[in-house]
Amino acid sequence: MSNVLELINSLKGPCSCGMCHDTAIKDIVIESGAVNTVGEVLKRNGFPKKLLLVADKDTLKAADGIVESLKDFDIEYKIYDTLRVATMKEVNEVEDLIKDREIGVLSVGTGSINDPCRLAAARQDKLLCIFGTAPSMDGFASYGAPIVDKGFKFSYSAKSPEVIIGDTKILASSPSDLKSAGFGDMIAKYVGLVDWKISSLLTGELYCEKVAKLTRDAVDELVELADKVTVNDEKTAGKIFEALLKTGVGMSFMQNSRPASGAEHIVCHILECKELVDGIIPNYHGHDVGVSTLNLLKYYAKLASIEKISAKYENVDWDDVYAFYGDLADDIKAVNFPENIVDGITPESIEENWDNIRKIIREVPSYEECKEAMRKAGCRLTVDDIGKDRKLFNDCTRYSPFMRKRLTLLRLSGMIGIYPEDAD
Ligand SMILES: [Zn+2]
Ligand SMILES: [Zn+2]
Repeated sequence: MSNVLELINSLKGPCSCGMCHDTAIKDIVIESGAVNTVGEVLKRNGFPKKLLLVADKDTLKAADGIVESLKDFDIEYKIYDTLRVATMKEVNEVEDLIKDREIGVLSVGTGSINDPCRLAAARQDKLLCIFGTAPSMDGFASYGAPIVDKGFKFSYSAKSPEVIIGDTKILASSPSDLKSAGFGDMIAKYVGLVDWKISSLLTGELYCEKVAKLTRDAVDELVELADKVTVNDEKTAGKIFEALLKTGVGMSFMQNSRPASGAEHIVCHILECKELVDGIIPNYHGHDVGVSTLNLLKYYAKLASIEKISAKYENVDWDDVYAFYGDLADDIKAVNFPENIVDGITPESIEENWDNIRKIIREVPSYEECKEAMRKAGCRLTVDDIGKDRKLFNDCTRYSPFMRKRLTLLRLSGMIGIYPEDAD
């Protein structure tokens, strides 16, 4: 049994946090040459004889040998030329192919291939196996599926796959740019963990020490390997994949993305929505997320350096916020009214908890340490590196906290009176 699977099984079930953690994942195989054993693994996990293999031309080529390993299966194919953005069109296409029949789904690729499969398989209640071709983001084991519909990206509740397979040889030889993106998606967890803990402190949101530790350990282990990320090294590639799986499982365990995403992910989500409206193909998720992470780590460090603050009630110019969101204004209104995530937070509660907030920020590695690790891992580091307009990036950062009913430290910037731009 793989180490990750053992770890997952040890955390499953009733927990001291009050939840009963569960995931659909039954089997995880991460090894060299795993591509040749896919058929065997599917069989032992009860997959039906009929199988829909979904891939794009590049990912199918990367998974050379997979078709041969499936000789006992009756395979149907849905092969895209190339798929960079997952939309509802692909979800519907996959769904139509598996509707009302006894068939399993084998998704070969990364996010944009896997996400439509995860949503379609969830809706049609089919067994799903993900064969990861590059360790580029943490959505492999996650329960949610980010899908673009009518120009907007939305995270749908889908399902974790029953089986996840990664061939370390294939993962290691995937483009180094994708591996660096995976690293960027992982380093982001430091901000996510800070936001989650601060929210539990101020709003009483459910926080699980064990799941937070699962994420924390995974990032820490990966940071140790930073200088090996871009090289073709099977052990490191396997480790990155494992780390990405662990945080995905953490999200499944909590039934939300708290353990793996904080303010930095919301910033990038808006950036992507804005770019989609303009017909721009977004960067690999992890690149934008990494840069946003650094930006926020710097801001949070600035906050942590301040010994005493005087907070005030939130006072938002909503018309200004709605103007920024344009067509999404109604959705933003629904997120913030009639109930608002900061309703229960008084200036006094922020002031009283300030020492704790500073302590929580300092529990994760510093901005400088993270930047150095990212530099070693070949990550993009600046807003220029990811090809964004600085004003747009800053605006997305400033307005992002109103997009979710979820407290982040960034959301408190108005109450504290210190903004990310002040950290520059
Ligand atoms: Zn728990
Ligand atoms: Zn992510």
